[in-house]
Amino acid sequence: MKALDELTFDNRFARLGDAFSTHVLPEPLDEPRLVVASKAAMALLDLDPSVAETPVFAELFGGHTLWAEAEPRAMVYSGHQFGGYTPQLGDGRGLLLGEVYNQAGEHWDLHLKGAGMTPYSRMGDGRAVLRSSIREFLASEALHALGIPSSRALCVIGSNTPVWREKQERGAMVLRLAPSHIRFGHFEYFYYTQKPEQQAQLAEHVLNLHYPQCREQPEPYLAMFREIVERNAEMIAKWQAYGFCHGVMNTDNMSILGITFDFGPFAFLDDFDAHFICNHSDHEGRYSFSNQVPIGQWNLSALAQALTPFISVDALKEALGLYLPLYQAHYLDLMRRRLGLTTAEDDDQNLVERLLQLMQNSGVDYTLFFRRLGDESAALAVSRLRDDFVDLAGFDAWAERYKARVERDGDGSEEQRRARMHAVNPLYILRNYLAQNAIAAAESGDYSEVRRLHEVLSKPFEEQAGMEQYAQRPPDWGKHLEISCSS
Ligand code: AMP
Ligand code: MG
Repeated sequence: MKALDELTFDNRFARLGDAFSTHVLPEPLDEPRLVVASKAAMALLDLDPSVAETPVFAELFGGHTLWAEAEPRAMVYSGHQFGGYTPQLGDGRGLLLGEVYNQAGEHWDLHLKGAGMTPYSRMGDGRAVLRSSIREFLASEALHALGIPSSRALCVIGSNTPVWREKQERGAMVLRLAPSHIRFGHFEYFYYTQKPEQQAQLAEHVLNLHYPQCREQPEPYLAMFREIVERNAEMIAKWQAYGFCHGVMNTDNMSILGITFDFGPFAFLDDFDAHFICNHSDHEGRYSFSNQVPIGQWNLSALAQALTPFISVDALKEALGLYLPLYQAHYLDLMRRRLGLTTAEDDDQNLVERLLQLMQNSGVDYTLFFRRLGDESAALAVSRLRDDFVDLAGFDAWAERYKARVERDGDGSEEQRRARMHAVNPLYILRNYLAQNAIAAAESGDYSEVRRLHEVLSKPFEEQAGMEQYAQRPPDWGKHLEISCSS
C-alpha cells in the first residue's frame, strides 16, 4: 500500500508535445473537502484507503497542490457532436495530471475534471458542479461493478466555490481514472486539420501503448481498428442489455479503448422504454436508448474516416461490417443469460424481442423484472410477475413459450438457476432518483447518502441487508426527472 507521495509517474502523453496538449495548472477550489472516494479505485493505484481522509488528499484533488512529477495538460481534440463536425474541442475543464503505474505494471491516467479554464474552454467557465461530479463518480463505479467497461472514478472533492448554472451551485472536482483519455475525436482533430505527422504519431502511440498485441498482425493499424470495433460492439451490447442510456454519444465522448466515457445526462432505464431519451436537449432522439446501437456504428465510421491515411477504405468497410453481427451476438448471449438460459436456440432472439415489447407496452421495471424472474422456478416466477402486465393474454403466451424453453434448456436445480440468474441480474442500479436523493443531501453538506449509495452499487448482484429501499421502483416524483444537461 502506498502513501500519496509514493505514486510512480510516467507521463507518456505529455511527452508527445505541445501539438497534442497544453500545460495548464489546476485552479484550486475554495475549502476543498472529500465528498466520496472509491476504495476499489484507490486500490488500482495501490493507495492506502485511509489516505482519502487526510487533508492533503482533498488539497491534491481540489487543485491546491500537485506532485512534483505530475505534468498537468489539457488535451486537444475535436469531434462530431449530434452529427455535425466541431473542428476544435479539447479538455475545456479537465486536466490530465499525469500517468501512474501500479505495482502490477498497469498504467492509469489521472484526469481531474472541473479544474478550471484551459485554452479549450470556449464559452465555459472550466468548472464542474457537485451534482454532475457525483453523477459521474457513481456511474463510473456502478458500471464497472456491473461488468460494463467504463472509466473509473477515484473521488469527488466538494468546495465553497460558487459556480453559475441555471442557479448558483458549488464547484467540485472528480478525479477520473482510465488507461487512456484518448477519444475518437483525437484522431479526427489531426485528420481534419491535416497534420499527417502528428496523426501518425498519435496512431503509433495508441498502437504501442494500448493495442500492442496488434503489432504482431500483418496490418497493425487495421488490426487495431478491428479491435476497437469489437470492443465498442461489446460495450454497447452491455449498455443495451442492462438498460444504460449514455445520452451524449458524440465522437469526442467515445474512448479509443471501448470503455464508457464522459458521463452527462446518462440514465438507467426504470420502466423499459426502447425510445427513451435521457438528454433533454436531444430533441430528435438521436441518442435515444435503441438508437445507441446504430450510433455506435456511425461513430466508428467517423473514426474510420479519420484513419483513411493508414488503412484502405475497403479494409475499413470490412471491419465496420463486423460491428452489427458482433453486437447481436454479445447482446443475445447476455439476454439469454439474463433469462437463465444456458443453451442457444434460433428462436431466442424473438423470445427476447417479444418480452421487451410486452414490457414496453406495460411500463414494466426493466431491472426488477429480470431479478424476480430468477427468484424462483420459472413457473412460479412468471405467475407472480404476470400482474405487472396489462396485456395478460400476451404475457401468458410469452410465459408458456418461456417455460417450455426453460424446460428444453434443462437448466439444473432451482438453486443453480437462482444463483446463475442473480449473478447476471442486478438488484441495485443507479436509478436517477437515487442519485438525486444523494445529490440533494450532499448539496446540504451531508455526504453519507452518496457514500452509502456508492457502497450499495459496488455490489449490485448481492442482496444487502437493510438496503431494500435501493431496490425499489422509483416513487412518482422520481419517474421522469429532468436531469439538467448543464454540468
Ligand atoms: P461534454 O458535453 O461535457 O462532453 O463537453 C463538450 C466540450 O465542452 C468538451 O470539450 C468540454 O471540455 C467542454 N466543456 C463542457 N463544460 C465546460 C465548462 N463548464 N467549461 C469549459 N469547457 C466545458
Ligand atoms: Mg465530453
